[in-house]
Amino acid sequence: MTTHTPRTKDGLRGDGQAPPDGSPREADTAVRPRRAEISNLEIVDHYFSVAAERLGLRDDIAAVLRSSYREMQVQIPVKLSDGKIHVFSGYRVQHNGARGPYKGGIRFHPEVDLDEIRALASLMTWKTAVVGIPYGGAKGGVNCPAEELTDDELETVARMFVDRVDRLLGPTRDIPAPDVNTNAQTMAWMMDEYGKLHGYSPACVTGKPIALEGSYGREAATGRGLIYLLREVAPRLELTPSTTRLVVQGFGNVGSWAARIAAQLGCRVVGISDAGGAVTNPNGIDVEELYAHVREGGRITEFPNVEPIDPDELLQLECDVFIPAALGGMIHKDNADLLNCRLVIEGANSPTTPAADEILADKGILVVPDVLANAGGVIVSYFEWVQNLQHFRWDEREVNDRLGTIIRKAFREVSARAGDGGSSLRLAAYELGIERVVEAATVRGYIS
Ligand code: GLU
Repeated sequence: MTTHTPRTKDGLRGDGQAPPDGSPREADTAVRPRRAEISNLEIVDHYFSVAAERLGLRDDIAAVLRSSYREMQVQIPVKLSDGKIHVFSGYRVQHNGARGPYKGGIRFHPEVDLDEIRALASLMTWKTAVVGIPYGGAKGGVNCPAEELTDDELETVARMFVDRVDRLLGPTRDIPAPDVNTNAQTMAWMMDEYGKLHGYSPACVTGKPIALEGSYGREAATGRGLIYLLREVAPRLELTPSTTRLVVQGFGNVGSWAARIAAQLGCRVVGISDAGGAVTNPNGIDVEELYAHVREGGRITEFPNVEPIDPDELLQLECDVFIPAALGGMIHKDNADLLNCRLVIEGANSPTTPAADEILADKGILVVPDVLANAGGVIVSYFEWVQNLQHFRWDEREVNDRLGTIIRKAFREVSARAGDGGSSLRLAAYELGIERVVEAATVRGYIS
């Protein structure tokens, strides 16, 4: 029986040790302020419906695209260190596969349920279409309290999940990746388990450790993509790196990489939060040092030269760019008005509710939506898959350059469409994504 070592909310164990491979988990998971009352499914469904209506999409086709192609729910019984068997639920939802094999992460979080996974699977369909990579959309999850589990327990959950959804997976069928509370180590266990059943197949999951045919640049990719887009938008707002002040909500994998890369460019990161609290320094936080401090088990609120603030205050900090990189629904009708920035770049999936989106538009805040902004992760997942299929490796520079090319092109296409139609970037992105999926489904003969 394993000893029970509780984890802190930032992906570090309660004993201050980093996760086994040392890599941070995909997102920071329990950051105040409180989340919206509206569910992720309602949020995504709303944006889909508005875009579908603007496109004049036929009702019967919209009904196909609103629902999932296949949904699987499985039982994950695990004996934990309290000596009892705990029965968790595992889900894999394949939303739409018209454009290629299903693709999307797997999250471990107690709030995971079928509706949330449905919403996130459909977001992956639009995301892969918006950036033009040949995948459909999927998502998976297990409703386990990942932050309280030991590494042995997490390994059991990961392996059992693969055993139970095995028939859906495979390099040409459905390719999982990390998401909230899962990381390269989780993917290594999953690849190993899949390999026991099917033989060595690194292309069966992405986001793996470098030692197991993972791709250089994958861990940083989502954060790097956000900053590529910041650089793309900056001239519109007459921002240069030295004049850009950034606030980052969430210091997990996405938030920490975004903050570090922005700081390397010369931007000033004036506010950061994680599950343990929030801090500010109007002159700029030393993000690299903060990252090292957190990796060593330190709390952000105990870091030198920062002022601890209430996490609710983080949204009100005066800045140019606000990056939500925690869970969905963090910017909602009761707090959107407090934002004191000019640009929101959505690192998390579904961080802004429709009501908040309208408030931000009224305030003149430009929003780069999740389906475009955080696509860097799945773009480099695509590169990892391509490399794995050839058992070949690109260097990091090549990965980063190709990521920049793809995400900038997608941004320009979405912007052009938003400009032409007078719509938000979010609606333009959804419209573009929906059109591409409809076109693929039509030429395949799925819909007519
Ligand atoms: N979980 C990430 C996302 O939501 C990455 C998915 C992937 O790489 O397949 O985009």
